[in-house]
Amino acid sequence: MKKRINLPILAAEFNVQALDWQSDAVCSQTDPDIFFPVRGQSSEPAKEACAGCPVREPCLDYALTNRETHGIWGGTAEHERRALRRAARSRPDQGPGRKVG
Ligand code: SF4
Repeated sequence: MKKRINLPILAAEFNVQALDWQSDAVCSQTDPDIFFPVRGQSSEPAKEACAGCPVREPCLDYALTNRETHGIWGGTAEHERRALRRAARSRPDQGPGRKVG
């Protein structure tokens, strides 16, 4: 009999956030290239997709927690996430993530 791996326990062991929210991600049904704009390319198409995404909040929390340095996550670019992390550090009770407004 095969031994089953318990993914939540494995995730907790390695401090990995559950990614089950990704199954509802708008970007999973969209051209992935728009979420990784190259220099000079607009990030607006990706941000517009994110604006209508039902998992925007967990996506942004994931990107903030894991310090994603590339691409658009939760409707934000890297420089915007850096600003959010800086703001969170100045409010230690808020943690890395915050409500998407
Ligand atoms: S918020 Fe944007 S990047 Fe995040 S899952 Fe939704 S569409 Fe993808």
